[in-house]
Amino acid sequence: MLTSDDVLHIFRDSGALLEGHFLLTSGRHSGHYLEKFQVLQYPHLTSRLCAEFARRFADDNVQVVVGPATGGIILAFETGRQMGVRAIFTEREDGKMTFRRGFALQPGERVLVVEDIVTTGGSVFEVLDAVRGQGGAIVGIALLADRSGGTVHFGVRTEALTTLDIPSYAPEECPLCRAGAPLTKRGSREQGGVKRAA
Ligand SMILES: [Zn+2]
Repeated sequence: MLTSDDVLHIFRDSGALLEGHFLLTSGRHSGHYLEKFQVLQYPHLTSRLCAEFARRFADDNVQVVVGPATGGIILAFETGRQMGVRAIFTEREDGKMTFRRGFALQPGERVLVVEDIVTTGGSVFEVLDAVRGQGGAIVGIALLADRSGGTVHFGVRTEALTTLDIPSYAPEECPLCRAGAPLTKRGSREQGGVKRAA
């Protein structure tokens, strides 16, 4: 069994959860930066996380695991491997999340949806639509981390292994700027006073 603290340790130890002073793509600043693929690059860590997904849904007769490309491919594969069931993924085609490559669900097939980090939940809602569009029965959703601040509700059982509260600031209100901390853009240090369009 993995606790929320265990999961945060895995994020930190793998370098996925960085602390410092970061310029986000939104133009806002934050004291933390999350790069989920820093975790997913380590099969033994991904395996531990997916074992917890599998444990939580062990009694739910899951028949297929579905995740959205790209992170969800890795999570679906490993969760499906541990549960002994099929693993497939959705991806975008002309901007719409869909099943390609001949992937299909039987009507009523019991589906576990997996995803890495949820902020707005947009990708997961699209996966739910794709699954329902094929007549799949959604058993639940397993997430590595919920960073929505409790604002996202999918209307089905959702298990997040941890919750992340990562504040961000407008540059002119940033306490890290005020403290004179050097600003970093996605892990690479840049000159102070970097400006980007929001
Ligand atoms: Zn700042």
